[in-house]
Amino acid sequence: NTTPIRPKLTIRLCGPRGFCAGVDRAIQIVVLALKGYGAPVYVRHEIVHNRYVVEGLEAKGAIFVEELDEIPEEHRAQPVVFSAHGVPKSVPADARARNLFYLDATCPLVSKVHKQAMRHQRLGRHVVLIGHAGHPEVIGTMGQLAEGTVSLIETVEDAAAYAPADPDNLGYVTQTTLSVDDTEGVIAKLKERFPNLADPAADSICYATTNRQEAVKQAAPGCDLFLIVGAPNSSNSKRLVEVALKAGAKQSLLVQRASEIDWDAIGTIGTLGLSAGASAPEVIVNEIIEAFRERYDTTVELAEFSVENEHFLVNRELRSIELTHD
Ligand code: SF4
Repeated sequence: NTTPIRPKLTIRLCGPRGFCAGVDRAIQIVVLALKGYGAPVYVRHEIVHNRYVVEGLEAKGAIFVEELDEIPEEHRAQPVVFSAHGVPKSVPADARARNLFYLDATCPLVSKVHKQAMRHQRLGRHVVLIGHAGHPEVIGTMGQLAEGTVSLIETVEDAAAYAPADPDNLGYVTQTTLSVDDTEGVIAKLKERFPNLADPAADSICYATTNRQEAVKQAAPGCDLFLIVGAPNSSNSKRLVEVALKAGAKQSLLVQRASEIDWDAIGTIGTLGLSAGASAPEVIVNEIIEAFRERYDTTVELAEFSVENEHFLVNRELRSIELTHD
């Protein structure tokens, strides 16, 4: 008998994982806009940080642009969708000035952070935003307020060095996809230095980020390798890799497709942790499980932390399309 004996492998499959309600809604908005208004539908920036999703929508007739001036004159009546990460206020203003028909796919939980930042300002506070420079959500949140009225803090070191003009009048918000634990450290440092720092009225880190991190944290101890399905520009996916390592996984990697896995580098493993960032589709999780099944005698265990029931309605303009066509 020449059949090789396949090594045994247990996969701890985290729940919840993958798509959150905000990503699901953003994709639905593009799909419904295509159904209702026909191709092309323009999308400003990657609708969510995932190539597979973006290419799937492109195949259906979506065209991704970086800026609104890339939309040709003859297509100005076609819808343009703003991504789930949110946009600075200048973007819808620019769309109106250009007479474009826009559909905002900003996640309602990102919009909530925008409102909290504006509330701090209304109450006379200078806004401190904890987040990662250059991320589209951070650009969007900073762009809700006038330039110079928001300070970005990325790390505990930034918090230790921050020198505001009016230290008694500060209020903070955060990016929705940060590490829960690291953010607590940044807030603690800020509060130690600025005891009057005001909290937002509701947590900024969203339910999906919190639940995915907690599930990974619980599954990680004892894992020889922890794979997170997600893109290198996906903030919440990168945080899951860090959480897995901190919680005891021997190794953790971000992976976009099964074809990317470097089987030689994996070495001997008995337990694999597996989860997916909020913008990663389940079909890729299944593809990865199948790739392991081909090489290992695999048992899949569900490592479920909680069950999510969140669902966000699409924009008013699209609801009848959903009813008619779905
Ligand atoms: Fe919304 Fe959170 Fe998903 Fe971002 S990760 S789209 S804030 S639910």
